[in-house]
Amino acid sequence: MVCKNCTGMLVLWAFSNGKCEKCGVDVVTSHIPCDKVCDSCSEQYEICKQCGEEKEDESATKLRIERYFNKLRGLLCCNTDEAEAAESGCYLFDESILETEKQYFIDCMYNNLSPYKALLFLTLDK
Ligand SMILES: [Zn+2]
Ligand SMILES: [Zn+2]
Repeated sequence: MVCKNCTGMLVLWAFSNGKCEKCGVDVVTSHIPCDKVCDSCSEQYEICKQCGEEKEDESATKLRIERYFNKLRGLLCCNTDEAEAAESGCYLFDESILETEKQYFIDCMYNNLSPYKALLFLTLDK
């Protein structure tokens, strides 16, 4: 893969060779500067083969956030009565919390906090 910065980057069309920064294999490219990592490492680590930068592409990020929020929604009990909610141990937040605290949840996701913990800390916070 090639990141946004490198797409359309001006290169010299000539063969050049170097070594993959990840696995040390010889890399031959048809342009200068030479790619920093080989094709298979680029795919495996999801890094740009040209500059070696890690780039999570936008659609992957969006999907990750969507999944996280779906899990959060599953932990909310807006449709259950209080007794039932207390029993199953879920949270009595309204779904609007996902909108008002959106940035907080996204931060939690990036810090690898589970949706359950994210809501737990939010409860302790209030
Ligand atoms: Zn490699
Ligand atoms: Zn790049």
